[in-house]
Amino acid sequence: MAGEQVPLKTYRGNCHCTAFVYEISLPEIKQATECNCSICYKKASIFVFPKPSDVRFVKGDPSALTNYTFNEKRFTHKFCSTCGVSLMVVGHLTPPKAGEDKAPDNGFNIRTFQHGQTDVWKLDIKTFDGAALPSAYDAPKFTGFPPAGDAEDLQLYTGSCHCGAVTVGLKSKPLNKDSQGLMECNCSICGRYGATWAYPPKVQVVIEGRENLGEYYFNKKIASKRFCKTCGVPVCSEAAECTEEQVAQMDEASRQWYTRSKDLTAFNLRLINGLNVNDLNPTRFDGYTFIKPGYVEP
Ligand SMILES: [Zn+2]
Ligand SMILES: [Zn+2]
Ligand SMILES: [Zn+2]
Repeated sequence: MAGEQVPLKTYRGNCHCTAFVYEISLPEIKQATECNCSICYKKASIFVFPKPSDVRFVKGDPSALTNYTFNEKRFTHKFCSTCGVSLMVVGHLTPPKAGEDKAPDNGFNIRTFQHGQTDVWKLDIKTFDGAALPSAYDAPKFTGFPPAGDAEDLQLYTGSCHCGAVTVGLKSKPLNKDSQGLMECNCSICGRYGATWAYPPKVQVVIEGRENLGEYYFNKKIASKRFCKTCGVPVCSEAAECTEEQVAQMDEASRQWYTRSKDLTAFNLRLINGLNVNDLNPTRFDGYTFIKPGYVEP
C-alpha cells in the first residue's frame, strides 16, 4: 500500500484539573492494546503512539508532568501532580541500536481523551503480555496491622501502589466474578483513573503511607480522590471531612451522597496483589451522564 494516505483523526485529551491539554492525530482508533505489566495494570493505562510531529500540547508543558520510572527506566510514566491523572509515557518502543540517535516515542493514555471521542468500554482491546517480560516486578508488601472485620466470610487482601510508598490491606468478602457492588465508572475522574472500585466500610481498609497520598478535590469538593504522589497510581476516594453545619448546608443530592459515603472507602482493586480485575464483573456506571453538574471539557 505504498503511497496510500491513511486519513488522520485528531483526538483531544487532558488531565482532570485541566493543567494539561493535548491534541494528537493518528488513524481512527478502532482497537487498542492494553498492556498487563505491573504499571500499566495498576494505572489501567491504554496507550496509543502518534508520530512525534502529530503531538501538540494546547496547554501545559509536558516537562512539568511528574515523572515515574522503575527497573531499567526504559519508559518514563508521566502524570499530573495535582489530579493524579496519568497522561502519557515516553520511551523507545524499540531500543535504539548502538550509536543510533532516535527520538523517543510518546504514548498517550486514551482514557484521558475527552468524552465521546473513543469509548473504552466498546473498543476492541487486545492484551499485550508485558507481565511476561523478563524484568520482573517485586510487588511491595503490606506490613501494616490488618484491618478490622472478623466476620467469617471476610478475607484479607493486600497490595500497594506501584512504587510501594503506599501499601494497603483490605478485608473483603471473596473477590471473584460473582462479587456484588463493584463498579467501573466513566465519569470524568473515574474514567481517567480507570479504577475498579469496591466500597468497603472504612474500618475494613488500612492504608499505610497516607502521607504519600496526593489529594484532589473538584466540583462540589465533597470527595477526595487520592493517588500516590510518587508513582501516580489512584488509590481511593473518600468523602471529605465535613462539619455537621457544612452537611446541613449541602444540596439534597450531595447530602444523600455524603451520608451514604462518609463511612466507606472507594477502594481501587487494581492495587491488590494476586487479583485480576478482569476476572471480576463490576457494574459499569454511566457517571459521565448521571453526575450533575457535568464536567466541562477544556
Ligand atoms: Zn491535572
Ligand atoms: Zn507509589
Ligand atoms: Zn466516577
